[in-house]
Amino acid sequence: MKERQRVNTSPVVADEVKTTTCYMCACRCGIKVHLRDGTIRYIEGNRDHPVNHGVLCAKGSAGIMHQYSPARLTKPLKRIGPRGSGEFEEIEWGEALATATGWLRDIRARNPRELAFFTGRDQSQALTGWWAQQFGTPNYAAHGGFCSVNMAAAGIYTMGGAFWEFGEPDWALTRYFMMFGVAEDHDSNPIKIGLGKLKARGAKFVSVNPVRTGYSAIADEWLGVTPGTDGLFVLSLVHELLKAGKIDADYLARYTNAPWLVIRDPGGADDGLFARDAEGRPMAWDRKLRRPVDPAAMHARPALTGELALPDGRKAVPAFHLVAERYLDARYAPEVVAERTGIPAATIKRIAAELAHAAFDQPVSLDVPWTDSAGRRHERMVGRPVAVHAMRGISAHANGFHTCRAIHLLQIILGSVDTPGGWRYKPPYPKSLASLPKPCGRTGEVAPNQPLPGPHLGFPSGPEDLLVDKDGKPLCIDKAFSWEAPLAIHGAMHLVITNAWKGDPYKIDTLFFYMANMAWNSAMNTQATIAMLTDKDETTGAYKIPRILYSDAFYSEMVAYADLVLPDTTYLERWDCLSLLDRPISHADGPADAIRRPVVKPDRDVRPFQDVLLDLGARLGLPGMTKEDGSPRYPSGYADYLVNHERRPGVGPLAGWRGKDGGQHGAGAVNPDQLDRYIANGCFWKHKLLPEQLYFKFTNRAYLDYAAKMGFVVKAEPIVHQLYSEELQRFRLAARGHGRVQPPAEHRARIETYFDPLPFWYPPFEDALDGSDGYPLQAITQRPMAMYHSWGSQNAWLRQIHGSNRLYVPRAVAERLGLADDDWVWATSRTGRIKAQIRVMSGVNAHTVWTWNAIGKRAGAWNLDPESPEATRGFLLNHLIDELLPPRPDGTAYANADPVTGQAAWFDLRVRLEKAAATEVAESRPFFTPIQTPPGLAPRPDALRYGAQFRDERTP
Ligand code: SF4
Repeated sequence: MKERQRVNTSPVVADEVKTTTCYMCACRCGIKVHLRDGTIRYIEGNRDHPVNHGVLCAKGSAGIMHQYSPARLTKPLKRIGPRGSGEFEEIEWGEALATATGWLRDIRARNPRELAFFTGRDQSQALTGWWAQQFGTPNYAAHGGFCSVNMAAAGIYTMGGAFWEFGEPDWALTRYFMMFGVAEDHDSNPIKIGLGKLKARGAKFVSVNPVRTGYSAIADEWLGVTPGTDGLFVLSLVHELLKAGKIDADYLARYTNAPWLVIRDPGGADDGLFARDAEGRPMAWDRKLRRPVDPAAMHARPALTGELALPDGRKAVPAFHLVAERYLDARYAPEVVAERTGIPAATIKRIAAELAHAAFDQPVSLDVPWTDSAGRRHERMVGRPVAVHAMRGISAHANGFHTCRAIHLLQIILGSVDTPGGWRYKPPYPKSLASLPKPCGRTGEVAPNQPLPGPHLGFPSGPEDLLVDKDGKPLCIDKAFSWEAPLAIHGAMHLVITNAWKGDPYKIDTLFFYMANMAWNSAMNTQATIAMLTDKDETTGAYKIPRILYSDAFYSEMVAYADLVLPDTTYLERWDCLSLLDRPISHADGPADAIRRPVVKPDRDVRPFQDVLLDLGARLGLPGMTKEDGSPRYPSGYADYLVNHERRPGVGPLAGWRGKDGGQHGAGAVNPDQLDRYIANGCFWKHKLLPEQLYFKFTNRAYLDYAAKMGFVVKAEPIVHQLYSEELQRFRLAARGHGRVQPPAEHRARIETYFDPLPFWYPPFEDALDGSDGYPLQAITQRPMAMYHSWGSQNAWLRQIHGSNRLYVPRAVAERLGLADDDWVWATSRTGRIKAQIRVMSGVNAHTVWTWNAIGKRAGAWNLDPESPEATRGFLLNHLIDELLPPRPDGTAYANADPVTGQAAWFDLRVRLEKAAATEVAESRPFFTPIQTPPGLAPRPDALRYGAQFRDERTP
């Protein structure tokens, strides 16, 4: 008899397990990395971690192939061929840093604005933003301007918090959950865990998304909305709720500005502003006393409707009066909006009725007494269990800001925000707008060899806070905080290359990018962007963008366009920090932050970008990065900074284990052992709020006292929901000719239109362009579950899931055009033309085609075979999207963006399809010349495997 082979099913594969934080997408899950002899064997989810509770997705486990990717850069590179050729020579770090320092030193001494420093999926913005401030340039931002700034701005300006990192659904208690425009990337594992809880409890999950993939595929109801019309749908729900009287009047009167009196003075400088008392406090009209009162007073009985006369004779109405006037209008009736939104009128009416039923007939009551900021004691916490989550599908439209505001309006009239079962803030949110910084970078605030007096990114309250010169011209290279994008609170990275190339509003010297694939999938209009990066001045022969400094861990498409490349490590090789000063990992039950720490040593001559930035800062003598004697303040790099840097006395990047003995959190002295304490705790810190602090955080005395003590808010004062935005009205008044700072004539009509103090819906700009009928289909992207940007699509394990992408075409459209699965089509927009292979699909809006994002690759990049499916069959929609709208009569053009925030309107793209001729080569287009592989990259393997070398360990 043949001897049976014995298999050891539980081999000991690791001799060490190290905790850290995943960075294979934006969610920041806790992981355990199992190592043997210093080599990664596998990655596991950390069950104790507050973000993922042990759940690990495909991307997270494929972190191994990220770590051992042949696309990793290995040494600093200096360009020796033309930009884009990929011709580099290796240099030593000494030369690289000396070169970069020389460039930057000259700029800082001459004019700090000549440096534009923009970062991509950077999770260390508390450092990078501070560095830019110390350098003295206002030309800094991360990628939020082309990601989801509409979401963040609308949330902060409406209720002091927003979706994702600022808040989350009450997964445990909600009874009705609506998700708008969310694909699989932000909050990936937490949403999966949350949806599991909802499903187990039988709570209803409605997904509003043009495409039925990912989360939408498991929704109880999928509403295949037409892209860009979500706001119209939501305002129709508001219409139905108002009509039925299904609103929480007590909540509106107590916790929102619904009762605040709005002055009606057509043509006047005060029209649309709040009526205020002598101390500047807004006033409400007391129904019993029949006179103006402080709406925040405990016994106020404020009116929500009716026009009245103020003591000085002016007319005013409560803000809610304007809400009712607007949304009861027949233009928001379900029958009117049904065709435009693609959602039948009967469905809109039913969803509104279901929301009302969940909110008002099924309240959630917790046996927890609490006291609100007016001093009212409540014996129980009673909530309206309707929760909402929204993301880029809502945000990436030219009407995204107002659509996000409309979603918050819906939440607020139902009285569900931060109540049991509703959507909940994650500390340090909510924050009042008044407590947040204003943008810095005016004339006089930028000077040679000087830091900015404050952070560049801030929150304007009115025209006086804009960064414009006396003629109203932009002062930032991306035109953030100008009349073209007044509330660009995350900057406008998508415009930097175009503006730098044009020298509009001025020329710069150096573009400094980190982790931003701006020559490929992070650019709108990719071909034109490449042309701008390589364009030369005809007279001098010099590049129009003089210098490009870039840091990345991989040979991404952008690397080929850099003059100097500073190779970064992977996330498993460096320290990092998910800070309360930036974008923490908090939960609605309490604040939390986390670190990354090196779990393996780099085997290449690369350095963590954060170390490099601090090193450059010290070489440049930047304040905060050098000691009085000129020596580096953080000689040991980012880990040194994480422990010893104090933004304010006692407040540093990490909130846990502060104080000499580690006994404090939030504020406290520097603790030299802080990082060890984090490591001992799984690389995170979290604090659980007391039961009486858990809900109603915007008005909960116990929570607000804690938030003030922690420095989350300046004072323990309520954060009043702003249904009606006086900040927006101030801009509108300026457009009408009032105030000290007014827009130039050419911007007035636009400001007047889009700075409406109440949310409204308007068609995306692309829909309204002449000739848009010639492009009858919307075209959008989705993020697959298994990938995160171009990082994921170079990963050997993940590439097997999505090696190339298809254009998904609605069945009826395919039939009309005679298309079948695997046919090739040309998709044409007003800007360009691409060729792609299709797949016919039923679960998609009838007017929408879509594809996976960032799968297509440029031949030669990422050390992939130029014949790889990503290069030959993968494609990008980016080639079809213009970063600008068509020129105006004066020859200038607005950005293809939201007019309030400047958010890139990626999802407004319109196309038409034509079947490719049978004789055409079966490859995607456009075709780009393959870029050369730089020196130092690992040999390109024919097949990339990991783990086979350990196979013998399984047999004893
Ligand atoms: S969801 Fe994102 S952060 Fe979490 S394990 Fe997956 S890739 Fe990592």
